[in-house]
Amino acid sequence: MLDTQTIQIQKTGNSRLSSVDFNNLDFGAVFSDHMLVIDYANGEWQTPTILPFGNFSLSPANPALHYGQAIFEGLKAYKNEQGEISVFRPLANLERLNTSAERLCMPTLPEELYMHGLSELLRLDADWIPSAAGSALYIRPFMFGTGEFLGVRPATEYRFAIITCPVNAYYSSPLRVKVEEKYVRAVEGGFGFSKAAGNYAGSLLPAQKALEAGYHQLLWTDGKTHEYFEESGTMNLMFVINDTLITPALSTSILAGITRDSILQLAKDHGISVEERKVSVAEVMAEVQQGTLQEAFGCGTAAVISQIVTIGYQGQDFDLPPVSERKYSPLLAQTLDDIRTGKKPDTHHWMVQI
Ligand code: PMP
Repeated sequence: MLDTQTIQIQKTGNSRLSSVDFNNLDFGAVFSDHMLVIDYANGEWQTPTILPFGNFSLSPANPALHYGQAIFEGLKAYKNEQGEISVFRPLANLERLNTSAERLCMPTLPEELYMHGLSELLRLDADWIPSAAGSALYIRPFMFGTGEFLGVRPATEYRFAIITCPVNAYYSSPLRVKVEEKYVRAVEGGFGFSKAAGNYAGSLLPAQKALEAGYHQLLWTDGKTHEYFEESGTMNLMFVINDTLITPALSTSILAGITRDSILQLAKDHGISVEERKVSVAEVMAEVQQGTLQEAFGCGTAAVISQIVTIGYQGQDFDLPPVSERKYSPLLAQTLDDIRTGKKPDTHHWMVQI
């Protein structure tokens, strides 16, 4: 039985902290001094180690490189003015990681191992957590198959690791998005509900084509008919129609975003009516053309809420109401921020103190 309290720690003798400009951080390009690594072998998780951020050594026959057994997560840690560290809903990310792991035939990670490893890593790299308003430490847990074998079957060995990046407040300029009717991100019965690396590789080309056509992102539609909305880029998608917050119901082709879940909960707390259901392109475009679509936005960990101002559909651009006239999404984004910064009580116990 693995003692989940034991972690081998190898501290860096060469911190990069003083060389970092915390006011000008490129998202995902600056990494903190240490990383957590937990290997899985012989049917069990091995002793966790924290070591200086650095390269892995892999066999060229590493199965994840060939067949894509690779999953990841994304969450944030915050530091308040008193220097206290908290993480937003880390167990929700673990639950999703384990859902992804099961879909890709990978081992699940026990809660104690994850929370203890994460906490120790954050304590060790506490000086890397920015405290300026809106800034955070982005946490990237990931897991992939290891070993040396080219047969197509689940790997027998795995590596789970966590790396972290300090990030500035993420301002997303209002988005021009295009309804995608050719390519798909995921299909019913596939693995779009998991945060598998392959889902992202497959979305790069359509996203690139959208950029070339003058849009920031795609509105993904369902793989069978292209009649129903699914997600917006790498965010979940929400609309406000008739003062009701509407979002596509979860399915095997939609990632269950933690921001999505939090926003739906906060909307209910505010007494806003909420619908999780199939949302057809025809319905939304009819509302847009009648001028009755009140709001449209994407939501996710990086930007929390990204406003959608233009929807490109079948070669035509349709403008949505100006962001300044929107009331529900700014209210929900503000409420979430107030919970994170302690201005509002954390009634759902989302902030986990480290
Ligand atoms: N959908 C996709 C495809 C994503 O990659 C993400 C980002 N993880 C989301 C939705 C939003 O999820 P979350 O709110 O947990 O960041």
